Amino acid sequence: MTDAARPDDPLIKGWCPGALRPMLSGDGLVVRVRPFGGRLRRAQADGLASLAAAHGNGLIDLSSRGNLQLRGVREDSFEALIEGLHGLRLLDANAEVEGRRNILTTPFWSVGDETEYLTAALTDALAQEDAPNLPAKFGFAVDTGDRPVLQRASADIRLEREAQGGLILRPDGAALGKQVDVHTAIGEAMQLAHWFAANRGTHKRMAKLLATGQSLPTGFTRSMQEQTNTPTPGLSEQGVLAGLAFGQLTAQTLAGLAKHGALRMTPWRMVLIEGAQDMPQLPGLIAAQDDPLLRIAACTGAPGCPQALIETRALARALAPLLPAWQTLHVSGCAKGCAHPNPAALTITGTAQGLSLIHNGRASDDPAQTGHSPHSILKAI
Ligand code: SF4
Repeated sequence: MTDAARPDDPLIKGWCPGALRPMLSGDGLVVRVRPFGGRLRRAQADGLASLAAAHGNGLIDLSSRGNLQLRGVREDSFEALIEGLHGLRLLDANAEVEGRRNILTTPFWSVGDETEYLTAALTDALAQEDAPNLPAKFGFAVDTGDRPVLQRASADIRLEREAQGGLILRPDGAALGKQVDVHTAIGEAMQLAHWFAANRGTHKRMAKLLATGQSLPTGFTRSMQEQTNTPTPGLSEQGVLAGLAFGQLTAQTLAGLAKHGALRMTPWRMVLIEGAQDMPQLPGLIAAQDDPLLRIAACTGAPGCPQALIETRALARALAPLLPAWQTLHVSGCAKGCAHPNPAALTITGTAQGLSLIHNGRASDDPAQTGHSPHSILKAI
């Protein structure tokens, strides 16, 4: 994309909504809940479903960072919703701590293991007054299961396992990490976050800073273990992974899921139902690993988002049966590309001039074709 602003350039707000700092959207307030440890106990999931139905429009989005966004919240209901979230212990002490607590945790952990401990310790460290002042989208990944699964998800500071099984701390964008152990990991992660805050200049993400050639502190010498696959719906050691088309579920489905187990959030538009052995029969769940809807990212679009230039999800459903078996598709209501910040094999972006088609790129990249209608794009992909 050129530097000159386009007429339909998206509005960049520079902050992320939370529960304590909601965002006004086309369908009301968006209240983003960040489950602690990436997990909802059954009572929390059930309570959250009731709150979404009582104070919002009953639709809930699972974000690419594993957060749950209650949509369509009425402004006169907001206070009661916050009280309800407080009662469910789903709130941080204040909006600053909430904004900093950007932690993505692998869902493949067991009670009492290092992943559970590290996530809790990192949560605690980010709540301290001396925690670094970080940009809004800056985040952490606790990816310390048997093998890495979060490398394709957005994060700036990563805790992972190297091939020999030890823990490493790896800045996003670097191939090498620093050897840590369960006792030193969080202190080292905080030091790296402080280092980023002191050296970032105008950069907001770790990989962008490192791409400038900025040298890391000493000690980052351990080879990373590459992620080889992305999880799919079905049975895992910890429970059943259930897919959600476009990451959306209804309050009713969330309440139904709560009957089957505690829920672990993922960045893959799936939730893990702890301890479940079978896929629950609930509306909106994707059980088939080859369901094309799993390979399509589509943002809220019109009418829910005021910046949207198209109805993304209706178009995505129409395109799903046409998608070749291996292909990923991103349908974006505007060039901001909220649903999929990374490149996709195919991206369709809504613009003031019609639909643009982009190959192997992001929603804001220069298109291969422009000016399509929803009808003509069906033939173009
Ligand atoms: S990408 Fe979609 S959700 Fe994000 S601002 Fe644009 S239309 Fe709205």
